[in-house]
Amino acid sequence: MIKRTLAQLAEMCGGTLSDVAAHGNVMVEGVFTDSRKPLEGSLFIPLVGERFDGHEFVQACLEKGAAGAIWQKDHGTPPQGAVIIVNDTLVALQALASAYLTENKAAVVGITGSNGKTTTKDIVDAILSTTFKVHKTQGNFNNHIGLPLTVLSMDPDTEIIILEMGMSGRGEINDLSVIAQPDVAVITNIGESHLLQLGSRLEIARAKAEIAAGLKPGGLLIYNGDEPLIAQVLEEPTTKQPDGLQRFTFGLQTDNDDYPTGLMNAQNGVVFTTKQSGEHAFTLPLLGTHNVVNCLAALAVARHFKVTTEQIAAGLSRLKLTGMRIEVTQGVSGLTLLNDAYNASPTSMKAAIDVLEGLKGYRMKVAVLGDMLELGPQEQDLHYGIGEYITSAKMDMVLVYGPLSAKIAEGASKHMPTEAVHAFIDKEEMTRYLLEKLHPRDVVLFKASRGMKLEDVVEALQIAP
Ligand code: ATP
Ligand code: MG
Repeated sequence: MIKRTLAQLAEMCGGTLSDVAAHGNVMVEGVFTDSRKPLEGSLFIPLVGERFDGHEFVQACLEKGAAGAIWQKDHGTPPQGAVIIVNDTLVALQALASAYLTENKAAVVGITGSNGKTTTKDIVDAILSTTFKVHKTQGNFNNHIGLPLTVLSMDPDTEIIILEMGMSGRGEINDLSVIAQPDVAVITNIGESHLLQLGSRLEIARAKAEIAAGLKPGGLLIYNGDEPLIAQVLEEPTTKQPDGLQRFTFGLQTDNDDYPTGLMNAQNGVVFTTKQSGEHAFTLPLLGTHNVVNCLAALAVARHFKVTTEQIAAGLSRLKLTGMRIEVTQGVSGLTLLNDAYNASPTSMKAAIDVLEGLKGYRMKVAVLGDMLELGPQEQDLHYGIGEYITSAKMDMVLVYGPLSAKIAEGASKHMPTEAVHAFIDKEEMTRYLLEKLHPRDVVLFKASRGMKLEDVVEALQIAP
């Protein structure tokens, strides 16, 4: 955690401390923005949202032991005590994070992309932690508030910080990258998430390429070379990038700097070799070729920091993912459940269907798919396209849930017998149907947008008698 005096913090965020003589030397450890969880000895930063204003809680936080608080000057008279006056509390939070990074020696890795950011971050962390003291984004704390809070929770002896960068519109990754000033930046892929807000895949690519804007001079950009839009956008004169930018591409295609040269499904994972790693076969304890692609990005980061092949292998064997990313669990009577219900877009939906296709040794392969949200005007077609992607060679049965998913069922009927395609609008009814049909030697994949809460069905299958 950051540890500075109030006077130092005021300087770092460009603010004015109320009474320097009285409070300037007070030592502060850490910052917090959630007034419900006041941290003793920390700095409270009141953020202003549409439905809340943290300034209402400044007084209470100071009384509960906060070492000080920030105060936005257009919010009336600040309370008595150790208060740093600033123009804007969010900008102050970000400035603090930026200054803290500049003052520390930690190398910065930034990760963006439509899918696979958290997964790639977890793989990079598992590998780098074998050799360095690493700090990383917890869960999905990847936006304009989560990223600076992640930075400020870093210990001073951290050697590498890994920051996930998420967005919902243009300019956001630019800002995060400028705050973080990465040494290494990764673009995992370009999908269709946020198509509604951005309008086209080209615009999504431009939004992701903004990660190059804050890269340090001579910094390394590792990106998915299977996606031509990224390379195209990097050539656009409006794309900001540092002097001496180094590039490294990964993907499945053999024109990338790194690609898998051999790939074999193993129990709950994949064994693969890559062009860069030569003979050495890595074991990734995750399902899916898409995760091998995420791993290629992580390997490139590891090579940049000169982690040895042995340490990489050791790191991969210890990998633990943030939940619901193709989590393999046992269901009722030993049934196998693949919980990928964390989120969904057409790209990740297809990746999950590919995972199911690759599985062997089950009596019946079943996919439970729900609506993919926020896809904009093309949503009906994109759902229909997922349906068309499904064939009886890939699975034995598909159940869909939600109004948009009716289109998946429609598309699936093209290559599947009608009795293998079932559409539901009621989750409980779907659960009952599953319990009736499933057998211990079956495997069921679950995938939908977060808002569909498909994990309710997963849980029901886990605990039902
Ligand atoms: P978010 O935007 O919610 O933070 P994320 O980019 O962090 O998502 P993950 O949490 O790593 O992504 O993965 C979310 C889902 O995306 C996974 O469950 C998986 O289905 C899919 N996914 C992960 N990596 C890829 C990839 N390289 N290509 C396609 N789909 C992927
Ligand atoms: Mg994420």
